[in-house]
Amino acid sequence: MRIATRVMKLPPYLFVQIDRARRQAIRAGRDVIDFGIGDPDRPTPSHIIRALKRAVDNPATHRYALDQGMPALRKEIANWYKRRFKVKLDFENEILPLIGSKEGIAHFPLAVINPGDYSLIPDPCYPPYRTGTILAGGLVYSLPLLSKNNFLPDLEKIPNKILKKAKLLYINYPNNPTAAVAGKEFYKEVVRFARRQKLVVVSDLAYSEICFDNFKVQSFLETEGAKNIAIEFHSLSKTYNMTGWRVGWAAGRKDLVAALAKVKANIDSGIFTALQLAGIAALRSSQFQVKKACGLYQTRRDILAGGLNSLGWQVTKPRATFYLWVRIPQCHLKINPRLNSMLFAQMLLKKAGIIVTPGVGFGKYGEGYVRFALTVDKKRIKQAISRLGKL
Ligand SMILES: *Cc1c(COP(=O)(O)O)cnc(C)c1O
Repeated sequence: MRIATRVMKLPPYLFVQIDRARRQAIRAGRDVIDFGIGDPDRPTPSHIIRALKRAVDNPATHRYALDQGMPALRKEIANWYKRRFKVKLDFENEILPLIGSKEGIAHFPLAVINPGDYSLIPDPCYPPYRTGTILAGGLVYSLPLLSKNNFLPDLEKIPNKILKKAKLLYINYPNNPTAAVAGKEFYKEVVRFARRQKLVVVSDLAYSEICFDNFKVQSFLETEGAKNIAIEFHSLSKTYNMTGWRVGWAAGRKDLVAALAKVKANIDSGIFTALQLAGIAALRSSQFQVKKACGLYQTRRDILAGGLNSLGWQVTKPRATFYLWVRIPQCHLKINPRLNSMLFAQMLLKKAGIIVTPGVGFGKYGEGYVRFALTVDKKRIKQAISRLGKL
C-alpha cells in the first residue's frame, strides 16, 4: 500500500535534522542552551491549575463535552474580546472553542478550500498554514515577508491569475517567526484588498498578549469591515503558559465559524470540559501574571539583543512575541559566504552548544535568518552570549 498523495505532498519537516542533532548532543552529555522551541518555560499560573483540579473532581466533567464548546466559555471569550479590543462578538455563533488553535488553523481549509483553490500564505510562516491547505487539496501561493517591507506582505504584487483562484489570505501579527507587528493602516489595506478580491482573511493572533514597551497589539477584527470577511484564531497557549493544555478558539464571520464547526463535529468531540472551566478561570482572573511574564520576556529580550549587538550582530528589538529574528551575522558570512541558516544553526550547536531554529524551516524567505526563542532564563542567556563571544 502507498500512502496518500496529499500526505506525500506535505513539505518535509525541516526541523528534524536540527532536532536529531540536539538530542545527540544532550545524550552525549553536552550542556545545551535551547533557544529553539517556542514554548514558554514558566509554569501555568497556579490559580488556573487549581481551577482545573477543582473541575476534574466533578464527574459531570468526565462525559463527552459539547462540540461547540460550553456557552459559558464562549461568553467569556466574547467578554475578553470586548474588554481587550472593543470588538463585539455574538457568543452563540461567532465564536468556536478549539483543541488548541493549531487544530482549528489546520482544519479550517477543509471547510473552504476546494481542490485547485489557492491560499495566499506568508513566507516565512507558522507551518500549519501551508499544510492545512495542502491537506485540503488546495494550492499555496507564498507572500514573501521581507525586512525592507517591515515583514508585511506586498499584496499588490500578487498576480491576477493567482488572485482569481485564491480564497484565503493569511496574516499573523505579532508574527512568528519574524516578531514583526502590524498597524491600523496595514489592516485597513487588507480589508480593502480582501473585499475587492473576494478573499477570506485568516488572522492568527496567538501572540497578542506578549508585547513590550507598552506596545498594545490590535486584533484584525477591530478594523472596520473586518468581521464580515475574516476568521481570527487565538489561544491560551502563549498568554498563560498553557501550550500543553490545548485550548484555543476561532472568532469571526458566522458562516466561516459554522463551516469550521461542521468539519470539527465530524472529527473531534470538543475540549475536555474541565479544561474549558480552567480556560474560563484564565480569562476571567487577574491578568497580573501575564504582565509579569511580558516583563520577564522583555528583560531577556534586552539581555539577548544587547549581548548579540555587542558582538557585532545586527539585532532589532521586537515589540511583541517571544522571538528574536536574527540575520546570520556578517562576521560569520565573511568567513563562509555560503553559510545558510541550516549550516549556521548546526555550527552554533557544534561549537557553542546553542540551539536556534534555522529560518529556512519556516519557508524559503526565512533563509539567511535564525530564530531565537526567549524561553530561556537570563543566566543561561548570559552564558550563551559569552559562548558566542568566544566563537
Ligand atoms: C504557538 C502558535 C499558535 C498556537 O498554538 P496552539 O495550537 O494554540 O498551542 C498559533 N499560531 C502561531 C503562529 C504560533 O506560534
